[in-house]
Amino acid sequence: KEILDEEDLDSLEDRPPVLTIMGHVDHGKTTLLDYIRTSKVVASEAGGITQGIGAYVVPVPIDGKLQTCVFLDTPGHEAFGAMRARGARVTDIAIIVVAADDGIRPQTNEAIAHAKAAGVPIVVAINKIDKDGANPDRVMEELASIGLMPEDWGGDVPMVQVSALKGDNVDELLETVMLVAELQDLKANPHRSAKGTVIEAGLDKSKGPIATFIVQNGTLKKGDIIISGEAFGKVRALFDEKGNHVDQAGPSIPVQVIGLNNVPIAGDEFEVVSSLDAAREKAEARAEALKNDHIATQAG
Ligand code: GDP
Repeated sequence: KEILDEEDLDSLEDRPPVLTIMGHVDHGKTTLLDYIRTSKVVASEAGGITQGIGAYVVPVPIDGKLQTCVFLDTPGHEAFGAMRARGARVTDIAIIVVAADDGIRPQTNEAIAHAKAAGVPIVVAINKIDKDGANPDRVMEELASIGLMPEDWGGDVPMVQVSALKGDNVDELLETVMLVAELQDLKANPHRSAKGTVIEAGLDKSKGPIATFIVQNGTLKKGDIIISGEAFGKVRALFDEKGNHVDQAGPSIPVQVIGLNNVPIAGDEFEVVSSLDAAREKAEARAEALKNDHIATQAG
């Protein structure tokens, strides 16, 4: 599904890359993301309590300039799988973490398969190189044997040896990721009504239906009328990952949204429409179509 329309082509601007960290359990995904988040937040923001909206905006210093990266903190494979099943391609680059003292494991293979199926470029973080049993060469051989040829060996997959625990080479990893992002020439049109994908959704006791959207094109604003699947409503409030109120969110930016009448489905698209009546009509038409599908299926 194309996110950009014909009419966007004259108004494209650079957008930050959206990254997902995947890999086998215990290989260091959480440690890596924690290190990146806590070491890279600019001083004024450090210490702020993040409130897990499922994604983080991280300013990364590259060549002395701060560049923005967005990390999806989905419970990895399930969410990636669910989004893929719904045709959403939210991630621009997959960072596959492989522990240097353990090598390729089943979830490593799964992660690689997900990234390949979605056509998402892979950067490998060979992690835990500080450990006694670490054998990064063996990991590279294993990866080469399943078709991921390391750049250092003349292939096209960048691999960086890191210690997420100590932070060794994490800067190099991020620089590598940003280089890959640059080659992708990621663009969107911030000057239009927003559309994107639901990455998390649930019911909050006091706030009602609450969802994290990642804006993929356009800019989402307070007061916009939104629809996602059969859920619709007017954006009453927007929050960033620190729980701060924001007035708008542009391309690649994750934002928590309040104002929907129902809980949308993770992996579904959302879009802004012109009026509540239009939204209601569209939602009802979808509900009707679903019901008919269901009846047709039951009738065999
Ligand atoms: P996840 O399941 O992939 O998110 O893995 P975690 O980040 O929870 O890490 C699993 C364990 O490995 C934890 O005890 C971490 O402290 C440890 N760990 C992660 N990265 C490193 C590393 O670079 N070096 C060492 N020595 N331990 C690490």
